[in-house]
Amino acid sequence: MRFETIAIHAGERPDATFGAVSVPIYQTSTFVFEDVGKTRGYDYSRTANPTRKVLEDTIAQLEGGKAGFAFATGMAAEATVMHLLKAGDHVISGDDVYGGTYRLFQNVMRDFGLEFTFLRMDDRRRIEQAIKPNTKMLWLETPSNPLLNIVDIEMAVGIARQHNLMTVMDNTFATPYFLRPIEYGVDLVVHSTTKYLNGHCDVVGGAVVTTTDELTERVQFLLNAMGTCASPFDCWLVIRGIETLPLRMRQHEKNAIAVANYLKGHLMVKRVMYPGLKSHPGHEIAKRQMKGFGGVVSFELKGGTEAVNSFLERIKVFSLAESLGGVASLAEHPATMSHASMPKEHREKVGITDQLIRLSVGLENINDLIEDLGQALEPS
Ligand SMILES: *Cc1c(COP(=O)(O)O)cnc(C)c1O
Repeated sequence: MRFETIAIHAGERPDATFGAVSVPIYQTSTFVFEDVGKTRGYDYSRTANPTRKVLEDTIAQLEGGKAGFAFATGMAAEATVMHLLKAGDHVISGDDVYGGTYRLFQNVMRDFGLEFTFLRMDDRRRIEQAIKPNTKMLWLETPSNPLLNIVDIEMAVGIARQHNLMTVMDNTFATPYFLRPIEYGVDLVVHSTTKYLNGHCDVVGGAVVTTTDELTERVQFLLNAMGTCASPFDCWLVIRGIETLPLRMRQHEKNAIAVANYLKGHLMVKRVMYPGLKSHPGHEIAKRQMKGFGGVVSFELKGGTEAVNSFLERIKVFSLAESLGGVASLAEHPATMSHASMPKEHREKVGITDQLIRLSVGLENINDLIEDLGQALEPS
């Protein structure tokens, strides 16, 4: 089956009990045993749930992995993955990862004895020099949030294989429609399904896709032991969202390209970050490893805080809100919103300036989006 078909038919669809075409929401905590020691495949919803299973099977197939797991949030998925490690292990992470990921590593996992090195993942030598005898994991995010930097996945996986490191890829921004990291040898894929996979800003969720039986068994164990799983209703919303993922991603990208080109030519704009632009330093790598460039565009405004505030106050079709990947366009200020949990020095070091604005370009009519940006960028 091809991508669009998997998105609609993967997992047990139609439902085996009554043939429901829409996946039933098994809103139950527990399941009746047929006999002592004999279940019908499910015993307790923390361990497994039939609605969740359809979502897990769908995401696993879309990513081309072994098994999928659905979590309460993207951060719950990431926290669970970090428990594959032990105190004393060292992790090398991109320095421009999602702010919440940085916070989980620095302010939570460090207290449990994990060590972290944050660096820009665009240079083989720099990554190799950071590897220590206790290094166990390479944490990758491409395109990165909010700078849209690109990691050469083949290069990163090559280094990891040579040094026996596990590679984890946060594939939230690209989604499997545009990028399938497992095809490049990545061991684990994580998602915030809150974003494009669900796509409608009405749920928070996360997912993990594994590639080996050993990882599958371990992630299933951790999900059950830690209780980080998603609820049946939230799973149902993400299942419904994924059915239109291919259509949505194509239009998100089309609108994002138009927005990036418009901003690039605007007098008030200092710099536009979008991997689809030829001027983007990661453009050639992105073109090689991705089928599309996604729907997020970041840019820096000329001028200071007033220019930023005036833009964010004047936008009307774009809403001032965190998050991304929904049908409605959003704009946000990483320094004070999505990445406020990063210390200012780290933000400045990696390039998340106070002038940076991140746009999640939605599915509205492109002329309305561009007119909205235009009126908000007028000098006051
Ligand atoms: C939002 C996001 C997360 C965290 O996911 P939640 O569902 O908000 O917990 C992780 N990684 C990336 C790239 C994100 O954009």
